[in-house]
Amino acid sequence: MAPMTTLKGDPFDRTLFESVTKRRFFFTESFEIYRVAPNFQGDNRGLYDYGPPGCALQANIVDLWRKHFVLEENMLELDCTVITPEPVLKTSGHVDKFADWMCKDAARGEYLRADHLVENVLASRLARGVNGPSKNSPKLDEATAAEYQNILAKIDNYDGPELGDLITKFDIRNPDGNGEVLPPMPFNLMFKSTVGPSAAAPVYLRPETAQGQFLNFRKLLDFNQGAMPFASASIGKSYRNEISPRSGLLRVREFLMAEIEHYVDPEKKEHERFDEVTQLRLPLLDKGTQLAGQTTPRNVSIEDAVKSGTIDNETLGYFLGRIMLFLLKIGVDPSKIRFRQHLDNEMAHYACDCWDAELLTSYGWIECVGCADRSAYDLTVHSKFTGTPLVVKEALRTGPVKVERWQASLDKKLVGPRFKRDAKAVQASVEALDQPLLEKLATELNTTGSVTVDTATPLADGSSSVELSRDLLTIQKVTRLETVREYTPNVIEPSFGIGRILYCLLEQVYWHRPQDVARAVLSLPLAVAPTKVLIVPISAQVQFTPITRKLSSRLRAFGIANNIDSSGASIGKRYARNDELGTPLGITVDFDTLANGSITLRERDTTSQVRGPEDEVLQAVKNLVDGTESWHQIAGRLAPFSAHGQNDD
Ligand code: AMP
Repeated sequence: MAPMTTLKGDPFDRTLFESVTKRRFFFTESFEIYRVAPNFQGDNRGLYDYGPPGCALQANIVDLWRKHFVLEENMLELDCTVITPEPVLKTSGHVDKFADWMCKDAARGEYLRADHLVENVLASRLARGVNGPSKNSPKLDEATAAEYQNILAKIDNYDGPELGDLITKFDIRNPDGNGEVLPPMPFNLMFKSTVGPSAAAPVYLRPETAQGQFLNFRKLLDFNQGAMPFASASIGKSYRNEISPRSGLLRVREFLMAEIEHYVDPEKKEHERFDEVTQLRLPLLDKGTQLAGQTTPRNVSIEDAVKSGTIDNETLGYFLGRIMLFLLKIGVDPSKIRFRQHLDNEMAHYACDCWDAELLTSYGWIECVGCADRSAYDLTVHSKFTGTPLVVKEALRTGPVKVERWQASLDKKLVGPRFKRDAKAVQASVEALDQPLLEKLATELNTTGSVTVDTATPLADGSSSVELSRDLLTIQKVTRLETVREYTPNVIEPSFGIGRILYCLLEQVYWHRPQDVARAVLSLPLAVAPTKVLIVPISAQVQFTPITRKLSSRLRAFGIANNIDSSGASIGKRYARNDELGTPLGITVDFDTLANGSITLRERDTTSQVRGPEDEVLQAVKNLVDGTESWHQIAGRLAPFSAHGQNDD
């Protein structure tokens, strides 16, 4: 793995970086004063509060996200509830399958995520060149090191039993205390609760915003006047009961997600704006490369990646391109992004192809955006369970066509008395049978006289299937004239974890002045910086107050977030504080301002300053914020400025 460097290429020191985010209150552990209180029994791991600059940064990232995706493509935004009834998540597959593998260290009573355990231990052995936990363990030989590297390159492809085999084979133990761990067990990541005073109605906190969007599909399609393709989008909190949350904001139990569900005709996965991204080159780490034990991505144009089938279709390629452009817009370092394709075993239960945008951090490559092709999975299962068709009906342009379809019908007179309370469920299950299954059942019914049909809901006796004989059920091929085509859309889903993106961005824009590691800078771009302009009077004298207030209010009128710092600290100290907050611009008001109305403008990264009349400087700030002028251009047309007492030192 490439070692993490600062924006200026120096070795990345996480302790120094964390001291900045802590000192400037970007975020903090939730309930911290309780955690340090005597006798605190609770668990606040994986829970974080954002401070003022963290909130402003998050709001700016979300604002840009909304403009880049929702407004740019007229996506239909929804705000759905977090509390979700169990049947919804049972149907979506989350109750049974949304789990990670965990191992228990029985002696310490500690739970560890199995893949992370294997990954951390093998990576640590490779880094230390020894094959065991201590310095005195035997030296790592070349063949074993190569085997470890090969395992690490495809670590996400192992299921629980396979991870168990690796743990036994390589005697992998809990790095804390070196104790043995029990074989991996699945652990469901959803938080469960109940609603109302009776415990009879189990609910979960949603693990993703997607399900609420799928359940509103009919209304969304209607709102969109039946036109396809289209996308819905949601920004909201999601909850995952992570097994052992570590790595600060990267693995938390409550986090903000921004998700897009793009509904597309499965037979037309082209995208009408594909030509806008075709020439964009993406660093792609595809399945084949990973399975060969390699970790170096290939830089490929989206056009070539789709043509060669590396990226499955145009719509997926289009969104990978849009994700790249968004990440660059908020200030992510282009050399610290890669797009990694999921391996077959790693794919979520609903996905048929998936790429993650990963960002390089001091914790390694971190998945920040998932972009999955969920096919027709979710709409199909919800439709089957509820009996509500979640389909698109499209008038056939070529006029009516003759189609042959398998059709199943139940003898209603017999079904009611035979199945009583279950009659409706049986009817719904038969209606939900698809064409391939109907064809298979027709043959079976003919040859054996009866068939077994799975029911979406359990029947009164607890069974989940029903036997139907020829007297009850008829399956035959009918020929119809059809004037509409009916299909279940496929869904392409770009899914963003805002907290992860925010944290990775902070690491990537962090550096320190060459002369002093303690003078940190966060080079956040103007578009997302919490405060755009710091206004500093040269001294705390009251005569400067009306001027700084007027400047602040004029900037506010432009919609530019600014802050006045009239504390007694030296100008250098006040700027240094704001460099750590990522404030890109500084305006200084001094005694010359009182005499001739001129002010200075400082740029954070270069610390260079220019001077000019108030109107000109404010217009320059506005141009910088709007992106119509660069600092280089401004420095070329306004007078350079340097004066004792107003520089950084
Ligand atoms: P997934 O649905 O697992 O693909 O997750 C979508 C996105 O949510 C990921 O790309 C992450 O950015 C984010 N995410 C998932 N789990 C967590 C977590 N425990 N803490 C923070 N962000 C997360």
